[in-house]
Amino acid sequence: MRFYIIFIALLFGVFSEALASPAVKSVRIGPGIDKTRLVLEVSEQVKFKAFTLDNPYRLVVDFPASAWAVADRNMPKPGGVVKGLRYGLYSSEVSRVVLDLSSPVKIANTFLLEPVGSAAYRIVVDIQAVAAGVYKDEEVTKGSKRINQKTVRTPISLNGVLLPKPKPRSIAKIQKTDWAKNKKVIILDPGHGGVDPGAISKRGTREKHLTLAIAKELKRELERTGKYKVHLTRNRDIFLPLRKRIEIGRAKKGDLFISLHADSHDSSKIRGASVYTLSEKASDKEAAALAAQQNKADVLAGVRLDEQYDSVGNILIDLAQRETMNLSAMFANLLVNNMRRNWNLRNNTHRFAGFAVLKAPDMPSVLLEMGYLTNRRDENTLLSKQQRSKLVLLVVRAIGRYFDQLGAQARG
Ligand SMILES: [Zn+2]
Repeated sequence: MRFYIIFIALLFGVFSEALASPAVKSVRIGPGIDKTRLVLEVSEQVKFKAFTLDNPYRLVVDFPASAWAVADRNMPKPGGVVKGLRYGLYSSEVSRVVLDLSSPVKIANTFLLEPVGSAAYRIVVDIQAVAAGVYKDEEVTKGSKRINQKTVRTPISLNGVLLPKPKPRSIAKIQKTDWAKNKKVIILDPGHGGVDPGAISKRGTREKHLTLAIAKELKRELERTGKYKVHLTRNRDIFLPLRKRIEIGRAKKGDLFISLHADSHDSSKIRGASVYTLSEKASDKEAAALAAQQNKADVLAGVRLDEQYDSVGNILIDLAQRETMNLSAMFANLLVNNMRRNWNLRNNTHRFAGFAVLKAPDMPSVLLEMGYLTNRRDENTLLSKQQRSKLVLLVVRAIGRYFDQLGAQARG
C-alpha cells in the first residue's frame, strides 16, 4: 500500500513537471577548431534567442521558463573558448544559459532540430571566434512557438469547492493596523538566484539555495515574535539585479535590510561568519575583493550594459547617507556581539567595502556572510537544520536589540 502511494506520487510528480513547463534534458558543447557548437536538448518546441555580450565575452541563450533536468555530473566541462556555463531563471518567463568565453565570438548559425529517435528538440547555436574589435553585438531569434506569458491567478475553486473572492483590504486600514502595532519592516535579501548560482561547493551545494532557505526560516521566526513585517526580495530561484533588490526594499519601506550570503574563499581553511557594511574605502583588501566580486553579479547573469542603470562598481556615498551608514554599523556591531559566543566568526568580523546592494540611502543595510562554502565544516553547519535554527535565533535577537536601542535613543 505504501509502495503504491509513493509510486503514484512519483508518477504525479513526473506528469505535473512535464505539464508545468518545458525541460532542458541535456547540454553539450562541441569545441571545434574554428567553430564551437552549443546544443540544448529541450522537451518541447520552444522559441529561443541567442546573443553575444562584450566585456567580459559571453554568449547568452534565452528560452521560455523551463525545468532543468541535467545532473551536475552530466554538465559539459570547460574547454576551448568556453570557460564556464551558468543556467537558471532570468525572469519568471525566461530561462537563460550563459557561456563565459575567453575570447570574442560571433554567432555563426542557430537552429532548432526536430526530435529524432530518443532525442527531443535541440536548440543549436554555433559560435565562431572573431578578432577583438570586430566584435559586434547581434541577436538571433529562432523557433515557432510563442514564449508563454504565464500569469498567476487566484484559484476560483479547490477540489470543486468554490473559494470566496479575495477581498481587497483597504489601504487605510492596513496602515492603521501597522501603525497601531508599530511593526518594523525587515527586508531579507537572499543572495544570488536563477542564472546566478553564487558560490558552489565541491559537493555541489549552491549558495543561491542556501540563502533562500535560511531567509525563509528567518522570516518565519521574525514573524513569530509579532513585532515585524518581513519581505523577501525573492522567494524563489530567480535572478534579481542588485539595483532591483534595493528598490524592493525601499518600496516596502524597509526599516532594516539584510543581504544573506555564503561565499567562497581561495583557501578552503578559511571559515566563519562576517558582517559587512557599506563604505567608500574598504576595511581590507579581501573585503574590497569580495565587494567587487558581488557587484559583478549582474554581469555574470548576462545583463546588458545598457540595462545596467548607473555603474554599480562606482560607489559614491553622499552626505545624506551618513546617518543610514551609522545605523547600519550599529546593527552590524550588535549582530557580531550576539553571534560571538554561539557562532564561528572570522577575525575582524565587522568589515566594510563598496557593496552595491547596501547602497540604499535611507535604509540601514548589512550583508551577512554566514560562512564559506569552500570550507567543509562551514558547509556542513549551514546544511544542518539545527545549526541553522541557532543562527536564525541569533539574528532575531540582534534585530530585537537594535530596535530596542533605537527606541531608547528616541525616548532620550
Ligand atoms: Zn554571495
